[in-house]
Formats: sequence, C-alpha cells, structure tokens
Amino acid sequence: MKSKLPVLTLKGSPHQMGYEHGKKARTEIEHNLKVYFQRFKSETELSHEVAVSRAAKFLEVINKVSPEYAETMKGVAAGSGQEILDITALNVRYELMYSQFSKIGLKPAPKTFGCTAFATLPTAVGNGHLIMAQNWDWIPEVKGLFLKVRNENGPDVLSFTEAGVVGGKIGLNSEGLGLLINGIVSSKDDWARLKKPFHVRCWEILRSKTLGRAARIVSQGERNCSANFILGQQKKAGRGKVIDIESAPEAVCKLGLDRGAVAHTNHFSDPKILGVKQVLDEERLSTLQRYRRIQKLLDRTVRAGEKLNLASAKNMLRDHYGKPESVCRHSNLKLPEYERYETVVSVIMDLPSRKLWAAMGSPCSTEYSPLEL
Ligand SMILES: [Zn+2]
Repeated sequence: MKSKLPVLTLKGSPHQMGYEHGKKARTEIEHNLKVYFQRFKSETELSHEVAVSRAAKFLEVINKVSPEYAETMKGVAAGSGQEILDITALNVRYELMYSQFSKIGLKPAPKTFGCTAFATLPTAVGNGHLIMAQNWDWIPEVKGLFLKVRNENGPDVLSFTEAGVVGGKIGLNSEGLGLLINGIVSSKDDWARLKKPFHVRCWEILRSKTLGRAARIVSQGERNCSANFILGQQKKAGRGKVIDIESAPEAVCKLGLDRGAVAHTNHFSDPKILGVKQVLDEERLSTLQRYRRIQKLLDRTVRAGEKLNLASAKNMLRDHYGKPESVCRHSNLKLPEYERYETVVSVIMDLPSRKLWAAMGSPCSTEYSPLEL
C-alpha cells in the first residue's frame, strides 16, 4: 500500500501557468498524446490527420469563448514542446471520442467507460461537512495529475486532470465549490456543433464563485456532447447545497437529492425528458450495476441515518460487488487490452475544509493521501 500524488502548483498569467504545466509534465504529456492518438484510431476510427483538423476548428472556438483557456493551452504546448493542435486535440478529446462513440455506437464493438460519483449534504456527514466523492474509471495508461492553481482573477482551484489538459474534471475551489463528472453518451452528441468544449466548461465551473454561476455554465446554450455534472458548495460550517445536472446537447435536467445524498454513473435517468436516445451497448451492465450498488450503499448508510465519515466514504469507493464491473472498477480480462477500463483515480473531497483525499489507481490496493488547496 503506497501512494504518492503528483501535484503541480501553478501561478502567474494563463500562459505562464500553461508553460509550467507543460514543462513539468513534459514526459506525461508526450505519453498521453501517444495514448490518445492511438485510441482515437483504434476505438473511434479517427486518424491523426482528422483529429487534428477537428482540433483546429475547436481552437478557433476556444479562442473566442475562453481566451484565457486558449492562452493556457498555448503555454502547455510551448512548455512541453508539442504542437498546439495536438494539445488542443487532447483538450477536446471528450468531444472527439464521445461523439464518435455515439456515431459508431450501433456497431457491436464494446465501447466502455465509466465513473461512479456521489455527494452527501452536511446533515448526512459526521462532522457536518459536505462530501463529494468519485471513482474516475478510464484508460489505465493515461497519466493524471493534480493542479493547484493560484488564479489572479478568480478563486484558487485544486483539481484532478490528465497531463496536458488545462481544465480539471474533479475538483474544488477556495469558495468551497466542488465538481464531479460522469461521461454519458446520447444519440445527439456531435463534435461538429462546435460549442464550448466539455473541459472548458469544467474549468469555468471550478473558477465560479457561486453554485448558481456554475450551474449556468452547464445549462447555457448548447453542448457538443452529453455529460452529468454534480456541483456542490459549502463555504464554511453550516448549510451546503448540491445539484446534479444531466446534460444532453440541447437540454438539461436537474435531479433531486434523495434523503441527503445523490449518486450517478454513466446513463441518463430519463433520456426522453432530454429528447435523446441512450447509447449504452456493452457499458449497460457496468453502469446499471454500479448505479444500483452505490444507491444501495447510500440507502444502507446515510439514508438510514448513519453519518458518513472518511472511512465509510473510502469503503464505498472500494466496493467490489459485481467485480470487475464494480464501483472499484477493475479491467475486464475478457475484453481485448485496448478495451479495458479501470478506476484510474479515486477522490473524496471535503468542501468547507478545501481538502481532498485521493488514491491514484485502484483504491482497494492504494492508500488515500490528503491534499489541501
Ligand atoms: Zn478494487
């Protein structure tokens, strides 16, 4: 049982922060580019040339909708010695992969991915702190890292990201606001909508001072791809709030909490409301099973009056019911190597104390380490 969290502290202008990120994670970025360009090809039938031409279109979009994000990406490219369009492709890999998943979703090839996330209100937690927790299940080879960002004009942010991706997906900020995400695929997902990319939205959410602002970042306008966002905020001891927003390209839907807790995996709870068709194929078994299990674990504990604590949150994320397609997800050895997914990082966040505990790799065999903003 050993753990060491890779952390980068970034400050300065957007370009300086990107440059530092690129320079310090040079090897990991080079590795991630290799992994993703290979995956684009093997899983989603996208050649390097096509991926880069789509990235070029997105670079124009990002320059327009979020110049600071674009500047940071340019810094990453300069610092890591990579081409800006390759770095852009990495930053819009959600669009490039997920919309392809839905386009070729009718084929029998398994396209699996997943995460299990849950959040509990302060009233359901022993120390009265809002807790947000998630296992991020993805390609085991992808190199992740934590970014501690000291923003000049906005809250400071502590988040988990993939090396080379500017916008962290799971994280919290100095306003006590937190974010969890789940990938979902719908029949309407399409990169060619060329709207604000997923990772740019995550980045903006984590720079928000209020939950209302963060929720608007999810819901305003159209989206290229579907995703679920769990947002929470508790600035200090006392009241906290959690919202779960399922988003499809043309509509969003808020999910209510059940007795102080909410959980999500990788399917829409009601795709009809959002005007889309669920695209699940082989992921069906995994996401439905993980969903039922995490709900059951919450039913037995916090919803039955038991207060959550760090140890019980870890136990939930280490759960092996239905292994390998379990909450603590392991590679399904029946699948070819390039189609295997497992828990790459497990994170438990305590919002009012601006602190998180994370395990890189399967949380059942890795100890959680603390990290503070
Ligand atoms: Zn495990």
